[in-house]
Amino acid sequence: MNKIADINQIRSLFPALEQSVNSKTLVYLDNGATSQKPKQVIDLVNRMNSGVNGNIHRAVHELSSQTTELYEDSREAVRQFINAAQKEEIIFTSGTTASINLVAASYGGKYLRKGDSVLVSEAEHHSNIVPWQLICESKEANLRVLPVDENGNWRMDMLDNLLDSSVKIVSVSHVSNVLGLINPVEELISRAHAKGIPVMVDGAQSIVHIETDVRKLDCDFYAFSGHKLYGPTGTGVLYGKREILDSIPPWMGGGDMVGTVTFEKTTYAPLPLKFEAGTPNFIGAAAMLEAIRFVESIDKKFLENSERSIVEYMIEELLKIEGLRLYGVGESRISLFSFTVNGAHPSDLAMIMDKMGVALRSGQMCAEPLMKRYGVESMLRASFAAYNTIDEAEYFIASLKRAIKMLS
Ligand code: PLP
Repeated sequence: MNKIADINQIRSLFPALEQSVNSKTLVYLDNGATSQKPKQVIDLVNRMNSGVNGNIHRAVHELSSQTTELYEDSREAVRQFINAAQKEEIIFTSGTTASINLVAASYGGKYLRKGDSVLVSEAEHHSNIVPWQLICESKEANLRVLPVDENGNWRMDMLDNLLDSSVKIVSVSHVSNVLGLINPVEELISRAHAKGIPVMVDGAQSIVHIETDVRKLDCDFYAFSGHKLYGPTGTGVLYGKREILDSIPPWMGGGDMVGTVTFEKTTYAPLPLKFEAGTPNFIGAAAMLEAIRFVESIDKKFLENSERSIVEYMIEELLKIEGLRLYGVGESRISLFSFTVNGAHPSDLAMIMDKMGVALRSGQMCAEPLMKRYGVESMLRASFAAYNTIDEAEYFIASLKRAIKMLS
């Protein structure tokens, strides 16, 4: 099948992009928070809600068989998409947050002891900090932090010292939701593995922009959210190496995750169901298959070139703006840019630009420790997706300049 290499064709698949906001054509640049959905995702969700609806894995009736098949086909599509070795290593969750909480509670619950440590980086989303703090608190373990330098790059020179024998797991983002830099996760993983320490990768931002191969990365866990990858909200994935997933206990108990239940003793279902208690968002999970099909329908070179042009243009133009500080300076990055402008509050800029039709994110970005690192209360962020155009980037820069002028 011919791959799509035409931005207008891509945009035509997204009904949300046709709307006006505040009487202006929408320029949606808050993709780091959540992406818009292509028709094929919307259609599958509608089709399932309109009738192809029966609880999965439970009944013998036709509708249950159909939904079970759609759900399990999606699991296989996710497996192929991230190149996991086995379908059993793909756990459906409600998002990255749930995936990290699962690992923190289950892996941390089993392996952390008093005095042990968990290592995260200074540039993590709260979702990759707080779950670890919760388990560390209950185990009397410590959260350690790999700092970032002034440009936002990991202090790899400090890694070996931090990775001492107390560290039982490392959990880091592939790409920070603030800095947009592609972190050297492969190097970190190989250095942690050399000391026998497993690594979890938060792929919430990277999955949309970087081809992900969990076997090549050799990460032990990998988490991402479906809603940032053009899929429905309330969907996500936890990948884990089978031997580790087999060795850790279930996180939540309930239906579908059991072998047999008696009041004396319960046995658990094999992977992946051991970690999928209760009725999951099976319609959302099934529709992730369509989100993946959408991503795979686009020509990779086209996508890469389009993102590169946007990155080059944005960096050049942002840095020309007086008083603007861009956070995250490095060789390889995605099209996500956070910055502050002297004398203009990020929320004021975001509100003014919203009136111009530009949707941006402002605030602490769920990364309060990183804000503190840079001595700011908040930032403004523009994050692009496959359907954003260079014209939109130009409109964004022009609107930003106008907004700054209005505030000065
Ligand atoms: N990690 C990173 C790097 C993120 O950017 C986000 C969301 O923005 C999350 C974790 C949490 O994702 P979710 O809210 O979909 O669970």
